[in-house]
Formats: sequence, structure tokens, C-alpha cells
Amino acid sequence: MRFHSTRAAAPALSFSEAIQTGLAPDGGLYVPEIFPTLTVRDFDGLASWVEIGERVLEPFFHGDRLRSHLRDICREAFNFPLALRDLDDDMSVLELFHGPTAAFKDVGARFLASCIARLPGRRTVLVATSGDTGGAVAAAFHEHPDVKVVVLFPLGKVSPRQQQQLTCWGGNIRALAVRGDFDDCQCLVKTAFMDSEWSETEGLLSANSINLGRLLPQTVYYAAAGLWYLRRHGKPPAFIVPTGNLGNGVAALWAQRMGLPVREVALACNANCAVPAFFHTGAWSPQPTIATIANAMDVGNPSNMERLRALHPEMAMLRQVARAFSISDEEIKRTITSFGSGSHETLCPHTAAAAFVRERLASPHWVIVATAHPAKFELVVEPLIKRAVAVPPCLARLLELPSSFEEIDPTFAALTEALR
Ligand SMILES: *Cc1c(COP(=O)(O)O)cnc(C)c1O
Repeated sequence: MRFHSTRAAAPALSFSEAIQTGLAPDGGLYVPEIFPTLTVRDFDGLASWVEIGERVLEPFFHGDRLRSHLRDICREAFNFPLALRDLDDDMSVLELFHGPTAAFKDVGARFLASCIARLPGRRTVLVATSGDTGGAVAAAFHEHPDVKVVVLFPLGKVSPRQQQQLTCWGGNIRALAVRGDFDDCQCLVKTAFMDSEWSETEGLLSANSINLGRLLPQTVYYAAAGLWYLRRHGKPPAFIVPTGNLGNGVAALWAQRMGLPVREVALACNANCAVPAFFHTGAWSPQPTIATIANAMDVGNPSNMERLRALHPEMAMLRQVARAFSISDEEIKRTITSFGSGSHETLCPHTAAAAFVRERLASPHWVIVATAHPAKFELVVEPLIKRAVAVPPCLARLLELPSSFEEIDPTFAALTEALR
């Protein structure tokens, strides 16, 4: 199995080559050359998401140097609970937040780290974060002997608990607070990758969702949840996915393309509405990023749009399998409040955007994808539900560790100086 660039002007690579390359040299993103077709029968007798994951991913590792390690990689990466809970007869939640940093990004970050651990060479993972990505990547690579991680976050622009998850690790993890905004952090990362000499000597590795090694394993929880739902209810479910950079949404549609039980995908965006506008008009027009209370979805120009368009170049086809919605902060707040008082479900702001969409959809069998634990966003959630959100043990442990970070100016010179 080979992976080619969405811009079709770079050589096709194997999975392990593609994850080490990150962005293709032509500026495109790696996607599978063909999607294997799987049927429900292929999963007979497989119950856990580790077993289902190995079966789903196997064809993508065909001929790859990591093929013989796939079982161990799945066991290591998917080592926390994945929960599909029925809230009532017609509403279920897929909880993706039981990993070490209480957000779904643990799935992809842990899978990528387990793969990299089995490939030779010393590396520097450079990652810009607006909140959740940095923590998940730091946790996944912590104490990895051949990898050092540098997390860039915008000074004063992440929540206190998010900041703690970026700065509590020590050892091989360094946190740099950039005197600027998230775009400055992302710009520094891009500059570093474009500096081919520096990039080569440091062995730079990208760990955001442009990396295939984060995106591909996300198909696994759609496969598992789709199969579990089908076995429980006799019908394939549709999923409502909180959407920012569009990695999670593309993973759901990849699972669907492979023939897994994913009936339809609804993308729930916040006020950053480039994707819903695209579904509406058919024209792609990225927007400047708007800050919202669902901050992990604050993306004006989602990178994985390229993968979405490569998957379904025809607008009519795309509209048959997916739709997109834009949800305001007010609507998110109202949903957190009503779920909190009605069904006593505490939702994080991102999950609340998906729950809001559920109330607008008439057809049955929808699953709300819960991307983060509400305790990560207590400053938004607690005043609305008027009670404290219990902190899960994994998060509580991180909140007690000492924290440290260095401040830098938003320049490449300041970054290289700090890393010397
Ligand atoms: C990153 C993130 C999202 C957005 O996911 P994408 O794959 O970027 O679309 C949604 N919710 C939470 C909690 C996140 O951390």
C-alpha cells in the first residue's frame, strides 16, 4: 500500500515513510492510493477496539516495515477505554476522552508515537498548539529516549488547565510560550520545516493532523463504534463530529469509504464557518480565524480540506455523505446548560456544538462524538451548569505536577536560540 500527495506532484510513499515526512514536498497531504473494502463479516468475533483496529489498519501496512509490529502498536496506542453510551432510545455518545490528556487527540498522538518508537533515528517533534494538541503529543512522546518534543503555545491565550498540560512534563519535553498568537506559533513551525538544513540536522517531525500517522488511526474508533452500534441496534449509525482542522471528520469519511458502518457524517463547526459555507456554495474560501468558546475548533483555514476534496471531488457526492453546520457561542452555551439540567450530561463546548446539531436532525440513529472531557474547559462549563465538574484521575495527576516554560519572541531566530 502506498500513499500519495493530494497535489499529485510528489513520489508515493509507504506508511512509515509518509509519517516521517509529514507534509509532502509538493505541499500536499498524504492520502491512501486506494481504500480497502471491508465488510461487517470481516469483523466477526472481534470485539475490542484494539482487535478491530488491527483489522482496519492491516491493509494500510501491507508491505510496510512496521507490518509485523502492528499488533503491538495497536495494543500500546489504544490502551484506554473507548465508550459508546446510549443516552436514550435515540441518542448515543461516543466518548473519545478517556486517554491521558482527556481529549480525542490522544488516539492519534499515541499511535504516531508508537510507530516512531519502532523506526530508527533521533528526532525533534515541533508542534504548535492552541490548546489540546500540544498536551496529547507531549504525553505520547514523554520519556521516549530518541525524541525530544518542543511545544509552542501562545502566551496568555490558552486556559490555565491547558497550559498545565503543556508545561508539566519536564525531561524530553520543552514548552515555549510565544509572545504572539496561535498563528505566530504555526508560522514558526512552518518556517522551521522550510529551513531544510535545520530541519535535517534536527530530524524534525510534524505531529499535527497533517501527519498521516495521526489521522489514519482515528478511523479505528469510527469502525469500532459503527460495529458496536450495529450489533446493539441493528442499524448503522451516523456521526456528528465537532470539527476544526477537519482531521476527525475526514477520518470518519475514510471509515465510511472502506465500507464500515458509518451511514452519514455531520460536521459541527463553531463560528469559523469556512466548511459549512463550502457545503452551501460549493466554493472554497478560507477565512481569518475567529476566537470562540470551543477554542480547539478555532480554525479559519482547515488543512484537511485538501483531503476532503481529494476523497470526494464531486460536490454532489460529498453532499450525499456529509453535511456541515455552524454553531454560535450562544447556541453552544444554551446546549451545555440544557443538557446539564435536563439529562445531567456535562458536555465540553466542542461536544455541545455536536449535541446542538443533533437536536436539528430528524432522522434516527445519530451518535454525538465527544472530543474532550468537560473538566478541561471548566471556566466555560461550570458557570453555565452552576456546579463543579469532577476532574478525572488522569487530569488530576497532571494538575499536581510542577510546571515550567520559557518565553520567546515570535521570531525564528528566537526559536533557534532557545533550542541551541
Ligand atoms: C482538536 C479538537 C477538535 C477539532 O478536531 P479536528 O480534527 O481538528 O477537526 C474538536 N474538539 C476538541 C476537544 C479538540 O481538541
